[in-house]
Amino acid sequence: MTRRVLVLNAGSSSLKYRLLDGGTGVAEASGTVERIGEDTGTLTHSVGGQDHTEERRVTDFEDALRSALDAFERHGPAIDRDHLAAVGHRVVHGGDLFADPVVVDDHLLATVEDLVPLAPLHNPANLEGLRVARRLFPDVPQVAVFDTAFHQSMPEHAYTYAVPLAWREEHRIRRYGFHGTSYAFVSRRAAELLDRPVEETNLVVLHLGNGASAAAIRGGHSVDTSMGLTPLEGLVMGTRSGDLDPAIHGHLHREVGWSLDEIDRALYRESGLRGLSGVNDFRELTRRMGAGDETARLAFDVYAYRVRKYVGAYYAALGELHAVVFTGGVGQHSPDLRAAALAGLDRLGIVLDPARNDARTNEARAVSAEDSEVAVLVVPTDEEWEIARQALAVVHGSD
Ligand code: AMP
Repeated sequence: MTRRVLVLNAGSSSLKYRLLDGGTGVAEASGTVERIGEDTGTLTHSVGGQDHTEERRVTDFEDALRSALDAFERHGPAIDRDHLAAVGHRVVHGGDLFADPVVVDDHLLATVEDLVPLAPLHNPANLEGLRVARRLFPDVPQVAVFDTAFHQSMPEHAYTYAVPLAWREEHRIRRYGFHGTSYAFVSRRAAELLDRPVEETNLVVLHLGNGASAAAIRGGHSVDTSMGLTPLEGLVMGTRSGDLDPAIHGHLHREVGWSLDEIDRALYRESGLRGLSGVNDFRELTRRMGAGDETARLAFDVYAYRVRKYVGAYYAALGELHAVVFTGGVGQHSPDLRAAALAGLDRLGIVLDPARNDARTNEARAVSAEDSEVAVLVVPTDEEWEIARQALAVVHGSD
């Protein structure tokens, strides 16, 4: 049985793809199509260590996927549709309807459509991806893997907001959580590193990328996470505010006259590190901080302090903790952030080893001191592999 999976991640103006072996994670080729719908788009197809880049207008998502398939034909490898086990799709919001990946059919499409109000930026693009891929690969099973699915195990007291019953029942207002595929991958990998069965492993995982969130994971199941109804809540992110007083919306609306859309836009796109310092890229932020930029320093401090607060909160939520795990571009590559977020937590049993923390490597590894009661791990995530793995499990009927 083939284990080849084509993974598609359709964003609002981009498409990322990877052709890989869902069992080993080994990729045959990958690529991105960017600026879909604009005058000039860019396609980069990477195969055999070489990038093939071309600029051309990409009108819509169907055009993007056709261009990608064309790149496979020209630069290889051939996608033999008879030897493709599945197309795996990242779908951002599955509401409270999906705790597992599912094979795409008409009913599933209608359900994802129904969930658009919960993720107006993401679900329409994901839907388009599902529809187009179904047309282009009619005989290959399409599997939707939801970002929210991993968090469906949260207990009611963790996912419930203290708001009126009608909001919760009629408008589906609750915490859903995101980055689920990353948490699934990283928590399994962390348990392997700790040499413990995942069922007996308690973790606080910090997914710190452009978007950022934290999760408390007990025995491989999410028991709390920092993103909520939308991916705005929780940690400070590149351009998103994370937690704030919910009365700020009303205050700005009444006192300054801004519309709710204007306020939302600012909280999604002009806040976070960008709002604090003018840059949303963490590497650039740390560079500026090194050059003595005070606003960059403040942004770093606010970011690190928020991470630290969630570590404490989720330690308490779990009661017993085996490891704090860092992943995502920032979590993986910024020893300064890890050190700042965990400084002085020795009384909680969390002690970094400075030399291990500073070592530059892309390997999954422990960065805690030998005698740290709680391990601190750095584990590179691989969402595409996780999507492929889950898609394979669905079509082959096993995990
Ligand atoms: P991701 O969304 O997981 O790709 O993460 C993107 C973020 O990781 C950006 O803010 C990058 O600046 C940050 N990042 C990537 N490499 C480094 C690095 N070497 N040091 C600090 N931050 C980094």
